[in-house]
Amino acid sequence: MPTSALSKHWDRLERAPARALQGRQLHGFLRDTVLPFSAHYRRVFAESGLTADDIRSVDDLRKIPFSSKTDLLPTPEEPRRSLNFALTPDPKVLSKRPGVIARALLTGRARVKDELDREWRPTFMTATTGRSTDSVSFLYTQHDLNNLAVGGGRIAEIARVTREERMLNMFPFAPHLAFWCMHYAGLNRNTFALSTGGGKCMGTEGNIKAILKLKPQVLVAMPTFIYHVLQQAIDENARLEGVRLICLGGEKVPDGMRRKLSAMCAQLGSPNVEVVATYGFTEAKLAFTECPFTPGQPPTGYHLYPDMGIVEVINPETGEPVPDGTGGEIVWTPINARGTVVLRYRTGDRIEHGLTWSACPCCGRTLPRLMGRISRVSDFRAMRFQKVKGTIVDFNELEHALDDVRGLGAWQIELRKAHDDPLDLDEIALHVARMDDMAEAALERHLRELLQANFELRPNRITFHTSEEMKVLHQVGIALKEQKVVDHRPQAVAPATVVVEPTPAHVDTKPLNLKPARQPQETTA
Ligand SMILES: [Zn+2]
Repeated sequence: MPTSALSKHWDRLERAPARALQGRQLHGFLRDTVLPFSAHYRRVFAESGLTADDIRSVDDLRKIPFSSKTDLLPTPEEPRRSLNFALTPDPKVLSKRPGVIARALLTGRARVKDELDREWRPTFMTATTGRSTDSVSFLYTQHDLNNLAVGGGRIAEIARVTREERMLNMFPFAPHLAFWCMHYAGLNRNTFALSTGGGKCMGTEGNIKAILKLKPQVLVAMPTFIYHVLQQAIDENARLEGVRLICLGGEKVPDGMRRKLSAMCAQLGSPNVEVVATYGFTEAKLAFTECPFTPGQPPTGYHLYPDMGIVEVINPETGEPVPDGTGGEIVWTPINARGTVVLRYRTGDRIEHGLTWSACPCCGRTLPRLMGRISRVSDFRAMRFQKVKGTIVDFNELEHALDDVRGLGAWQIELRKAHDDPLDLDEIALHVARMDDMAEAALERHLRELLQANFELRPNRITFHTSEEMKVLHQVGIALKEQKVVDHRPQAVAPATVVVEPTPAHVDTKPLNLKPARQPQETTA
């Protein structure tokens, strides 16, 4: 693929020229890639009376109907429904294209056939987590894997990771975006990266050993997991020197969490650690990062790749795109993908301050950035707001608030029913671990005031735990993702399980089936 002007200058184009190039690339992508080979979008366009020629600018995007998770979920009639979104090229159509004929004349038919196969044949996939809903698979061809590597490499580039540095990737090993994105990031930047597979593969202890052995400058992980790793290292009086950067993903990252992790690193012998959060989702087949900054400074926003896709921010009620700088729901349209392709995909994620195209004050790059906090509503919309004790609670906000409490380490909210009776009253237990030698009485008082004032919540119990006990409660090393909110209310009234974690599609709590192959039976004499 020849490099387009947009790809070449992805991080230095002003809004107007960049959007003009995006519009042109979008039109070509629909005309040559999506509509000829996507049965689903051919039908959608026909039903809407649209052709590729009607979509020639970013503003024209609004003519295309939205797609959402419900379009991809399997139904009894169509158990493999997401496959309808995979591009299936017709070799006859491809072989008649002038570009293909020219290339065949220049380099030979066999070579072009192989190139086309690599461009179009799916060879890899990641899947959404499917906690509340069924999991959805997204297919990648080599073309997409290259994009994933370039996109991952840009994360490392923006985070100023050099090739002399070493990365330790502690994302959970699974067919999920986060793990693979950072694996390919290392390859793309020619930077040493060791992927431990996270807590379920090696436990916290194994990850600490890997840090001690490798002495990485860059730690990549989910926030709650790295918190437990660092806490255990502190408990063991370990020294983890030379860490420069923590790159987080898979959960949202409240300021308080950044501050905590940075302070813990300082305690372990790595002062002034910078923390970046990444944002990615299965449907984009990409992830994006902020510029590194010292906790306490304002975040720099997620740096998007204008050559790979168009991010719109819409009013979630009306579906209308909102002006830059205005919050709303994130909508994604790829403009350089193969494999599974969804157009105008409604992520269900809300971005607080919307988009900006102004140059990043930190790195000077000019590209679209998503500003402010992201609330991951995704497929858990119904579960984000839970009625507890008759009060509607926004657990997104609650999580931010708790993570920002000074002196509070790990925490978990447990929902129960009194006497375990489905018809009895809701109960809330808050499990906490202290940090910074905060007095228990003072911390408990502060937590009760905070919950009462901001959430009208009065927990029935606040229980103090050791960091070891919190690790057990969070199921570190057992679940793929730490359990920060658990619902132990009997199922008669409550929905099956409520994991009130803001969850990107690429993180799962379901234990992966990683059982070793069956051992030969011991023969008994
Ligand atoms: Zn920047």
